[in-house]
Amino acid sequence: MAKKVRIDRDACIGCGLCVSVMPEVFEFDDEGKARVHAQPAEGVEVEVANDCPTGAIIVED
Ligand code: SF4
Repeated sequence: MAKKVRIDRDACIGCGLCVSVMPEVFEFDDEGKARVHAQPAEGVEVEVANDCPTGAIIVED
């Protein structure tokens, strides 16, 4: 099963890390916060979730 990713919008500070590392998954919304525009492909690890400064990226198996 592919991982399912979502963003805790209240926690995101819009630093841009996830958008720059995985633009195929993350993008900015109109308010400068990250959102998921496409789920990661099968087998792709979302390691940036560990690097998000506020822990706003939630990865579910
Ligand atoms: S890395 Fe975290 S805080 Fe930075 S834009 Fe992405 S979700 Fe938001």
